[in-house]
Amino acid sequence: MSQTPTRADFDRYMVPNYAPQQVIPVRGEGSRLWDQEGREYIDFAGGIAVNGLGHCHPVLVEALTDQANRLWHLSNVYTNEPALKLARSLVERTFADKVFLCSSGGEANEAAFKLARRWAHDNFGSHKHRIVSFSQAFHGRTLFTVSVGGQPKYAQGFGPVPGGIVHGTYNDLDSVRELIDDDTCAVVVEPMQGEGGVLPAAPGFLEGLRELCDAHDALLVFDEVQTGVGRSGSLFAYQQLGVTPDILTSAKALGGGFPVGAMLTTDRIAQAFSFGTHGSTYGGNPLASAVALAAVEYIDTPEVLEGIARRHALFREHLGEINARHGVFREVRGMGLLIGAEMSEAWRDRAKDILPLAIEEGLMALIAGPNVLRMAPSLVIPEADIAEGMARLERAVARLVAGQ
Ligand SMILES: *Cc1c(COP(=O)(O)O)cnc(C)c1O
Repeated sequence: MSQTPTRADFDRYMVPNYAPQQVIPVRGEGSRLWDQEGREYIDFAGGIAVNGLGHCHPVLVEALTDQANRLWHLSNVYTNEPALKLARSLVERTFADKVFLCSSGGEANEAAFKLARRWAHDNFGSHKHRIVSFSQAFHGRTLFTVSVGGQPKYAQGFGPVPGGIVHGTYNDLDSVRELIDDDTCAVVVEPMQGEGGVLPAAPGFLEGLRELCDAHDALLVFDEVQTGVGRSGSLFAYQQLGVTPDILTSAKALGGGFPVGAMLTTDRIAQAFSFGTHGSTYGGNPLASAVALAAVEYIDTPEVLEGIARRHALFREHLGEINARHGVFREVRGMGLLIGAEMSEAWRDRAKDILPLAIEEGLMALIAGPNVLRMAPSLVIPEADIAEGMARLERAVARLVAGQ
């Protein structure tokens, strides 16, 4: 006899590397979720910037079920139509000539860092292997990606870690000038830091990185796992920032909730991933590729992208009003529908205390570090759901302020 699972089962049966909220959502539709008790929530969290089209969007459901009735998996001993269509679509919409498909953001970054090293090794020699990254950066949880990432706690106790990685200060070009040299194979950067606090690149910073990379024959790698696929207001953030990388990684909203990742690059660099150098069993899986193709084609349209700009303005307006009444935020920032509200001095590091109150009020939100309330809702969230979600957020904030 099967019993309904409970939150206690998590502690009983699962490795304790997460600490999930007490509620267990069982159904989602658009920007609303329902838990086991039938309580309804508005979703400003979007599965951490993954559910770009909300929950169970009909276009994605159709792409998935249609493919589920045709072909699930082949391995890369054969290619398949959905993977080829997805790769072509990504190439036609971006700077890239070539695509490597995989199943997560960490895996896309792992591929990017390996490609940068292999490219430098093949063209310059193995001395050119240094990677410049940034404090507070987040690139995934594999050993290589936590090492390139700039949050030492994620690598602690897992050593020995890969070497040759140094960290500058985000938005500080001088710090990069001090670190980069002719042995640098890549500079790795999020065009807006996500986990690091929803921190946009300062004007001139990415241009400066581009120039430094060009001066030292190093590759510029943009991690757009969080900012990509419409999240920033354009298909990829680089397209509105005026700086083109050599390698770009995507995941999260790429699959809208189906696990998929991609690494994009140019012909010149792609050659270093010659036959047999790298691989992934699930990379280019037909189910994942079919869903990702549908997501990209649906999101990369003027209607959806313009709608993101409108919703961005609405989020700022509502957060400004909440702040005018309660004074908990120092700054609201972000791009598109990746928005961060940094806590004011009086409420320093209390962003995390809003989350359980918000859940009680029927709203799911996120934090980015202890001091930033983060929102990454569906890119097509109805305006009525924004208004209702903000009313719930305001109740949560009011309770925080009242000390309840
Ligand atoms: C989430 C994230 C990753 C890691 O993606 P996974 O799918 O969890 O491996 C990497 N980089 C950035 C910028 C992210 O936000």
